Amino acid sequence: MNAAEAVNDALGALHARFADVRDGEQADYIPQLTRADPDDFGLALVSMDGHCYSAGEADTPFTVQSVSKPFVYALALSSVGLDEVDRWVGAEPSGEAFNAISLEAGTGRPANAMVNAGAIVTTALVPDTPESPAFDRILACLSRFAGRLLDVDEEVYASEAATGDRNRALAYLIRSTGTDYLDPVAAVDTYFRQCAVRVTAVDLAVMAATLAYGGVNPLTGETVVSAEVAAQVLSVMATCGMYNGSGEWLLRVGLPAKSGVSGGLIAAGPARFGLAAYSPPLDPAGTSVRGRAALGALSERYGLHLMRNP
Ligand code: GLU
Repeated sequence: MNAAEAVNDALGALHARFADVRDGEQADYIPQLTRADPDDFGLALVSMDGHCYSAGEADTPFTVQSVSKPFVYALALSSVGLDEVDRWVGAEPSGEAFNAISLEAGTGRPANAMVNAGAIVTTALVPDTPESPAFDRILACLSRFAGRLLDVDEEVYASEAATGDRNRALAYLIRSTGTDYLDPVAAVDTYFRQCAVRVTAVDLAVMAATLAYGGVNPLTGETVVSAEVAAQVLSVMATCGMYNGSGEWLLRVGLPAKSGVSGGLIAAGPARFGLAAYSPPLDPAGTSVRGRAALGALSERYGLHLMRNP
């Protein structure tokens, strides 16, 4: 068996092993998300030489939700630099749920860019001009990370816009702390649109691989962000990407990662690979149950934990 067959076999075996897991609940606070098929389960891995391996429903479209956050953080870092981003959003694990109503004491900053409050801030830091509106820049950036033109699921966008008052509350709270560059209405609308961008597990694996490859998309060869920005994003993913499950994830799986409420999950092996899973039922921390099981088993089986001395 050659190396490519071995990777495909490994993904196929993980798919078979976890496809029948019935634990977890699909998110329903965005009503349109309940339309996803709970049995869908896709896995994808992209290597640094641009090879893509997959198993199951790896080409099924779903909305990116919070897996957009590291990539929009990358765009904000590329646009205004780490010091300016750091003025408005921190880089400390919050230990709280994705939608916690909580800002850092003293500074009023959201704890990090992976929780909703911080993601609304990073979205608002993306330059917004009449010639180049913030959302167009975000969609173009996510597309460059994925290596193809992405689009928006308008129904999911409308569903979140109709029910997203908690995120609106967060945006108003952030502005009340003196963050007067932030227009709460515009920031949240752009954030909802960014969460409704449609991707597949293969797209997410390419996006994760681009971060792992120092900001260069291994499929297209395009430099999407600098190696410095890619490293900054992976650092925050490692400590904060899994919300209040971040410490446990780093302990057990040992890879920078990001979960999303539609069931998407990415993990990156710096200079090695990008990984993604899609399966809608979630655990209490908002992580895809089958995705977590499959990526955890893969890390254990192949010794992918970053802190491990091989
Ligand atoms: N759009 C979702 C929200 O803001 C994203 C949350 C997530 O994926 O964890 O509520």
